[in-house]
Amino acid sequence: MPPTPPRLRLRLTAAAETAVRSGHPWVYSDKIREQNRAGTPGELAVIYDRNDRFLAIGLYDPDSPLVVRVIHKGDPVTLNAGWWRARLKAAIDRRRPHFDDQTNGYRLINGESDGFPGLVLDRYGACLVLKIYTPAWLPCLHPAAGTAIPLEGLSLVSFLQELLQPDRIVLRMSRNLGAFRAQAPCADGGNLLGTDPAPSVVFLEDGLRFESDVVQGQKTGFFLDQRDNRRRIGALAGRGEVLNVFSFSGGFSVHAARGGARSVTDLDMSPHALASARRNFALNRDHPRVAAATHHQVQADAFEWLSSAPREAYDTVILDPPSLAKRETERAGAIQAYHRLTRLGMDRVRSGGMLLTASCSAHVSEEEFFDAVRTSLRSTGRRWTELEITSHAPDHPAGFTEARYLKALYARVS
Ligand code: SAH
Repeated sequence: MPPTPPRLRLRLTAAAETAVRSGHPWVYSDKIREQNRAGTPGELAVIYDRNDRFLAIGLYDPDSPLVVRVIHKGDPVTLNAGWWRARLKAAIDRRRPHFDDQTNGYRLINGESDGFPGLVLDRYGACLVLKIYTPAWLPCLHPAAGTAIPLEGLSLVSFLQELLQPDRIVLRMSRNLGAFRAQAPCADGGNLLGTDPAPSVVFLEDGLRFESDVVQGQKTGFFLDQRDNRRRIGALAGRGEVLNVFSFSGGFSVHAARGGARSVTDLDMSPHALASARRNFALNRDHPRVAAATHHQVQADAFEWLSSAPREAYDTVILDPPSLAKRETERAGAIQAYHRLTRLGMDRVRSGGMLLTASCSAHVSEEEFFDAVRTSLRSTGRRWTELEITSHAPDHPAGFTEARYLKALYARVS
């Protein structure tokens, strides 16, 4: 047996040290000032402060610019199976007050903000979807029997079996894992537990049935972060006509239909998304108001279609585009796009109607987004009042600035 190497020890620049001390979970590679040896992906790195006191412990990922993701800061702790199990249980328990048996699709672990940086766990009924954004978690999925268990006792699959008794656990791996994906116990979209190969799973959101493409869909198959906004639209859309722009699998539309909307129109450029929305309507046909609503679909580029669509033709317009700034360099362009989109959406709202406009671009701040929306709404010359500003649903806690990506504004047009 080769001797166990000494624990990986790091010291950071003063600014990075302050950030970690105040709770920021990310350390970038250019912030490392000292390191006792080279590290391997997924090992634990201990960060010491300038006075040689323990500051934090984190997951080391030498191939990423985000070289350490902090899992604990403050007093030194002994990481062992019991510590990990308690952390996992705390994340699960935190969700309990928010959900009843009418909603069995929600996030159980929201990465850094639940103490599992770069890892997301979503529940769709009896199916769990585990998505990892760093190879650092790979060794904890199924630690090989007889070998030292990485991360001091964390064995994710067995803990999840014990705490949640799922029928199936699907593994999803972010593209940035690159060649590390080959080291996973199964392919992307494969099962870590169970044998059911079905690509989509049906779950409940407020008593409505939806499918999630857990094997190939974006994120883990459904945009759980918008649940509370979908709920609000269900309550606010009334008997009106609704235009759901960037509709994906029709979440907002089905909620609006159940709320009583007389017609709903999905607009998306993806035929797969539109087909999924048709299936989601069909799944809820037993609901008289969903069955009674007229369901239209348009497959088009949203910006183009909206530019030539009839003016003031809808009572509710929902704008929920994908992230328009995937990187910092796209920020200015995204802000321009939000200006344009808000204007295009507002022009389609009837007097007395409502506009919901949302952004999930992490690189566009709340202030920049709301500024763009308000400036754009003012430029229409119409009268409007702000009803509400909202953010993520409570199963998506956001413990630091970069995690607060979702923002939405409801405007009533008079
Ligand atoms: N509102 C949805 C999530 C939207 S995801 C929900 O609550 O579930 C973003 C959607 O926008 C995707 O379905 C994608 O196909 C679509 N999309 C992306 N760019 C588009 C464009 N330029 N025009 C129309 N749809 C687009």
